[in-house]
Amino acid sequence: RQINSVEMEQRKGRRLVLFPLPLQGHINPMFDLANILHSRGFSITIIHTTFNSPNPSNYPHFTFRIISEDLPENNRCTKDLIAFVSMLNAICGPPFRDCLADLLSDSSEEPIACLISDAILYFTQDVANELKVPRMVLRTGAASSFCVFSSFPLLREKGYLPIQADSQLEEPIVELPPLRVKDLPVIHTNDPEDLYHVVVGMVEQSKASNGMIWNTFEELEGTSLATLHQKLGVPLFPIGPFHKCFAVTSSTTSSSLLTHDQSCISWLDKQDPKSVIYVSFGSLASISETQFLEIAWGLANSNQPFLWVVRPGLVHGSNWVEPLPNGFLETLGGKGHIVKRAPQQQVLAHPSVGAFWTHNGWNSTLESICEGVPMVCMPCFTDQKVNARYVSEVWGIGLQLEKELERGEIERTIKRLMVDKDGESIRERMLNLKEKSNLCLSESGSSKQALDSLVHHILSLES
Ligand code: UDP
Repeated sequence: RQINSVEMEQRKGRRLVLFPLPLQGHINPMFDLANILHSRGFSITIIHTTFNSPNPSNYPHFTFRIISEDLPENNRCTKDLIAFVSMLNAICGPPFRDCLADLLSDSSEEPIACLISDAILYFTQDVANELKVPRMVLRTGAASSFCVFSSFPLLREKGYLPIQADSQLEEPIVELPPLRVKDLPVIHTNDPEDLYHVVVGMVEQSKASNGMIWNTFEELEGTSLATLHQKLGVPLFPIGPFHKCFAVTSSTTSSSLLTHDQSCISWLDKQDPKSVIYVSFGSLASISETQFLEIAWGLANSNQPFLWVVRPGLVHGSNWVEPLPNGFLETLGGKGHIVKRAPQQQVLAHPSVGAFWTHNGWNSTLESICEGVPMVCMPCFTDQKVNARYVSEVWGIGLQLEKELERGEIERTIKRLMVDKDGESIRERMLNLKEKSNLCLSESGSSKQALDSLVHHILSLES
């Protein structure tokens, strides 16, 4: 449906205040959403923390407000993610409240239609209630994993959580097929109670919001979205994939906290179509030196060219790629290229890329789906485990490495996915889903319609 000029006029002069969780996988979709809503006529103010602050000069069309959250030094690192987000929720309230109150009282700015904050920043719901501003939630993960989060009380009641012993891991969760105990979205943290509180806080305060915005699409997660709609009782707007609403370049690269290595693209240009396996485990996951070496030899032995993102700090105890044998890449004669950071969306869209070995962060999973690139799944923690299970067992668009990482298994999995007849059906399903991810953004597509509804919903919140 075309936006008519009266509506556009009505919308102008309305401001949205967006508050991202300051982690890369949450910042990217929040800025994409900001661009989408800006293109629909809203003015945008971003509130951000001093930790991982974005670069405002990349977004001259937005205004920015910083809050000084004053994180204790030992919590500035994100080694214990749950401790980090608990801390953010505990200490950001007062500075965030002051900042939002200040924006609300500023009569030189347009009136604020609503706050949109990350689901994990659940403390913002109380602030919004107190200041009488509607709050919409952005959930940057999948609807399917949120279904699992919303079942945490049940999982605890039935004895699946907290996971007590390794012997439990293969047990199926009959209430949430096809998940097994080992697919539950948990993460190591000093105090497992903290994880439970964060999850329950996120879910309960989402229920108390004016609605949730999702970076997913109906054709991919219709079943989980319907379940959530019933459970949460608030309107849901699946308007993704966000990053496909704009040409790959500006929005995505400028919300990156690190510089991308553009040598990836010229290296990919020299490879055969669909021959390259792209390997990246996102911005937080880490691996042991033994795992790192198994990956290196598995890649080398697979005989497929590989583009591998080794983030500084990825390997425990190493700065970068020091554990590799001397001359490792040279002996492969140009078959491998290692970088610290890749322009991932451009890489996945490159015709030379034939598979993605991923940790299944939701952004990476969705970016892979949008380019029709089948996945080797190696989830590390939280929702990545649910995503990997859906990729391999529900959507059938990838293979999960389940056992201890071992070079022979890696080699066989890569060949099966990329070359063998056996992997053909996976590759076909992936292309089919890519098609759907494109169609949902077309004029009559599901995400486009959900976006129209979202805009109406936001405007209806004001009075
Ligand atoms: N990313 C990138 N280059 C890299 C690694 C990651 O552009 O070398 C981007 C990737 O495209 C995705 C985001 O960083 O948008 C990572 O988010 P995801 O949810 O996949 O994982 P997380 O980093 O949150 O674990």
